[in-house]
Amino acid sequence: MGNDDMDDCIFCMIASGKIPCAKVAEDDSFIAFLDINPINPGHTLIIPKKHVETVFELGKEEFGSLFEMSRRLSGPIQKAMAAKKMGVVIEGFLVPHAHIHLVPLNHGGELSFSRAKKAEAKDLAMIAERIRQQL
Ligand code: 5GP
Ligand code: ZN
Repeated sequence: MGNDDMDDCIFCMIASGKIPCAKVAEDDSFIAFLDINPINPGHTLIIPKKHVETVFELGKEEFGSLFEMSRRLSGPIQKAMAAKKMGVVIEGFLVPHAHIHLVPLNHGGELSFSRAKKAEAKDLAMIAERIRQQL
């Protein structure tokens, strides 16, 4: 942990642009992009560019900034997807690089990874564009 760019970490490769993503927003320290296996359309991941395994290893300020970016994006995502609520999950069983899931929701009980389905790259690009228009 602690390296800026871990060679075998998929989210480090996304953060450095080595592999593509449907980007929603970015600043110097964080990047937000659509999950390739969304629970619902608009399912977004927010990650620190710096490699740490879990959000709880971030410093107080970075932890706050990660959540602040999630707060800032939740409205535009909700609006773009016309969702009733926005759900938040921190899990990390699949990718050992800190991330927050932000998931548009329309019904109770939807916030479950058993509902996640692979999305087409062109659909993700379209949805990311729709969200960016709300920023
Ligand atoms: P977790 O580690 O919190 O269990 O889940 C990691 C999430 O990252 C999963 O929802 C998975 O679909 C997503 N994911 C894994 N690899 C990629 C990738 O290469 N690109 C994108 N956009 N999402 C990914
Ligand atoms: Zn990483």
